[in-house]
Amino acid sequence: MTHEDYMAIAVREGVEGMRSGKGGPFGAVIVASGEIIGKGCNMVTSLNDPTAHAEMVAIRNACQAVKSFHLTDAVLYTSCEPCPMCLSAMYWAKIKEFFYCTDRFDAARIDFADQFIYDEIVLPLNDRTSKARQIHLPAAMALFEEWAASQTKISY
Ligand SMILES: [Zn+2]
Repeated sequence: MTHEDYMAIAVREGVEGMRSGKGGPFGAVIVASGEIIGKGCNMVTSLNDPTAHAEMVAIRNACQAVKSFHLTDAVLYTSCEPCPMCLSAMYWAKIKEFFYCTDRFDAARIDFADQFIYDEIVLPLNDRTSKARQIHLPAAMALFEEWAASQTKISY
């Protein structure tokens, strides 16, 4: 299978998901050692889950399939350039390579917020639309110290 073959499957996931009312026009496939280990389509509206982007769904499915929270040797194919959330999830999953077709600017033209969020995250904290205020509770730092000292933690 070529990169284009895997991408065609990702796009088909998006087509089928959109047409069956699962969510927006996005699909993704994750491949490791030539095998598809996870697929997904956007399911935001059908699950009432704003995090159910195609890449997130595919990452969850792949991680369950390989029983690991890392997909170190996997490649992700997504019908559209990942939004910042999905890109972050790929970093957390240690996916080091991805392919995409349409991009954030194409998505903006059909009213998706990818580019808006990319613009927001580079702004200083106080200049963003989503307001952030820090609260200092000693228990929060104690939680970190307990984690740092833990002998039983599973690091990720
Ligand atoms: Zn996303």
